[in-house]
Amino acid sequence: MSQKIPITGALITGGGGFLGSHLAEQMAKEKLPVVCVDNFCTGFPANQNYLEKTYPENILFFRQDVCADWKSWAQDIPKKFTSSLSHVFHFASPASPPHYQRIPLETLWVNSVGLKNALQFADQFKARLTFASTSEVYGSPSISPQPESYWGNVNSFGARSCYDEGKRFGEALIFSHNQVHNTQHGLVRIFNTYGPRMNPDDGRVIINFLVQALKGQDLSIYGAGQQTRSFCFVSDLVQGILKYSQTKLTEPVNLGNDQEFTILELATTIQLMFVEKNLKLNFHKLPADDPQQRCPDLKKAKILLPDWRSEVLLKDGLVATLAWLKEQKLGST
Ligand code: NAD
Ligand code: UDP
Repeated sequence: MSQKIPITGALITGGGGFLGSHLAEQMAKEKLPVVCVDNFCTGFPANQNYLEKTYPENILFFRQDVCADWKSWAQDIPKKFTSSLSHVFHFASPASPPHYQRIPLETLWVNSVGLKNALQFADQFKARLTFASTSEVYGSPSISPQPESYWGNVNSFGARSCYDEGKRFGEALIFSHNQVHNTQHGLVRIFNTYGPRMNPDDGRVIINFLVQALKGQDLSIYGAGQQTRSFCFVSDLVQGILKYSQTKLTEPVNLGNDQEFTILELATTIQLMFVEKNLKLNFHKLPADDPQQRCPDLKKAKILLPDWRSEVLLKDGLVATLAWLKEQKLGST
């Protein structure tokens, strides 16, 4: 295993979002200086208040679009935050299908222009960048589980292509940037992850079901609910990202949980958590290009990140997410 690159300070694009805010918190807990950049086009704004209040010495926020010129604000980052900067995490991007389909052009730009800006910033400080790629690079896979060697089955011209192809472009940019500039930036392919601090209006399946359940509404099943996903709790994922980022790996590594569930099984689990509410299922049309099966092949992660594994059980992660959601006082109608 190659030598470790310890984190001494970080800049996180998308630092106000779900995953970015957890990465920021984990590093701030270790008393590291963290700069978060976010325009809150999809992130939950309360995440910023929480982080700034809890870690006033360690976390600094900039409300900026990372696709625009960085000079106007990056030069205002205090020395305290740049002098020890070792890592950049490019996590800015809409991630939920309803949101990236609402702002498809912004989704393409943030994974291309935004990533280019983040790479230039990282190189200026000789920092290592980790790009948040996705299982969506495999599209609607024809093999399962999906190993990193699988090239995918992706529609380049459709409802999901702004996200899928945006991320595939981002991966190609990392590869070519490393070749041309002799750098060692990397990327992780993240599979469905959930937990506290997802925007309650995010629209992805777990947060949607929990919000609906809290409000006593029917659970919305798209299609017949026979499609599968594998759900990773955020604390497990963050450990995997931090471990990967501290290696010199430049190749993609899958991160997620490999226990596979149908959406109907997920809905049943949530019905049982709210048994007193007798929640009904409401079946809707399956969205275009919705992958029928998704499950990570984690063999490579087990070899390259040997002391990492996803351990939190779905039912425990759901309870933790629900507890956080209840604190957000969403109303009960
Ligand atoms: P999220 O929507 O909660 O977080 C993304 C953040 O990026 C948001 O706060 C959003 O406001 C911000 N953002 C988007 N465009 C921006 C821009 N141009 N400038 C500044 N900020 C911008 O979603 P998330 O689940 O935390 O996803 C974080 C990253 O991880 C994304 O890149 C996503 O593609 C990737 N990812 C997430 C998952 C998952 O299951 N959570 C799976 C695969 C990949
Ligand atoms: N889904 C659903 N009901 C919802 C939200 C999503 O049945 O309220 C389905 C969706 O069609 C997909 C799966 O759940 O098959 C996971 O969707 P999500 O938006 O969480 O992420 P994806 O993995 O599709 O990017």
